[in-house]
Amino acid sequence: MKFGAAVLRAYEDPFTIEEVMLTEGPAEGEILVRISGCGLCRTDLAVRRSAGRSPLPAVLGHEGAGVVAETGGAGTGFDVGDHVVLSFDSCGHCRSCRSAAPAYCDSFASLNLFGGRGENAARFTDTAGTALAPRWFGQSSFAEYAMVPARNAVRVDPSLPLELLGPLGCGFLTGAGAVFNSFGVGPGDTLAVFGAGAVGLAAVMAAHAAGAVTVAVDRHPGRLALAERLHALPLPAASVALPDRIQRLTGGGVMYALDTTGSAGLINDALRSLSPTGHLGLVSRLRTALPLEPGTLDRGRRISHICEGDAVPGLLIPRLTALWQAGLFPFDQLIRLYPLADINEAEHDCDTGRVVKPVLIPDGRKR
Ligand SMILES: [Zn+2]
Ligand SMILES: [Zn+2]
Repeated sequence: MKFGAAVLRAYEDPFTIEEVMLTEGPAEGEILVRISGCGLCRTDLAVRRSAGRSPLPAVLGHEGAGVVAETGGAGTGFDVGDHVVLSFDSCGHCRSCRSAAPAYCDSFASLNLFGGRGENAARFTDTAGTALAPRWFGQSSFAEYAMVPARNAVRVDPSLPLELLGPLGCGFLTGAGAVFNSFGVGPGDTLAVFGAGAVGLAAVMAAHAAGAVTVAVDRHPGRLALAERLHALPLPAASVALPDRIQRLTGGGVMYALDTTGSAGLINDALRSLSPTGHLGLVSRLRTALPLEPGTLDRGRRISHICEGDAVPGLLIPRLTALWQAGLFPFDQLIRLYPLADINEAEHDCDTGRVVKPVLIPDGRKR
């Protein structure tokens, strides 16, 4: 079958909208999903900055949601017509997967970042027959269709606005999962979020839903205003003596801090904002050594890396949609819709901070 997709051919080039081809239907355990919408995530854009890590040409996109169009065999657990949100891929049988920690799967990198399981290699091509790197995060959803392992699809209620739900599979899952799973935030707890993008604001919403007090730090006034609407206390990142201000705002420091920026300066500030035994979670992968200033880890403070919100997508995604239905996780406020054809504009708006979460709608789909 032929369908439209946004293809990245070179690291510095814009995406191009092209016809691509799948030469075979779903294999055993796979489902073909007609994409209703796909969020644009920082990790998609990071491909440009990590030349050589993802094979090109590639179809990126890993926050897809759509309708099951075809199933491979009877054992997928899905029927044609099911509404699904797609999340990251995992092997299902390593120690982490067996411990309900699929984000730490032994095969995470090979399944999600380097072109997937390989089954697609010969069957996913451009119209000239050149193989495309498929299965970015088990999906490659900047396209009208994605062929995915059934393992990383989560069925959702068909009454939900499907085109908006894709970011629940990565960005919103990461922020909310950090709050619910990694930290276990509860009523009366305190949290500081460094970086009020999609991940940080998902953490703000989840913390509010859990009854916690949250401080949001960012350099964009628009994002701080949005954080305030979502019930966080806003603080500009350039504030003088940021940790002291957070300590004062929260009566002695926060129990939890989440850094989404990867900035060494803010990570040190985050540590100094913690109360004794406080926990700082980092969602960015460290690309260089991280200098920690003396005293920042004293008094039982700890620091950990958090991948995909420590989530089991099949458990957390239904929880997030239920919270949205109850008015407690208004993630739709972070989204702006774009036709897939405008993906380069969406990338620009995301990079410049104008939009928190672009969601791309394949041409001809419901807007
Ligand atoms: Zn695994
Ligand atoms: Zn992502």
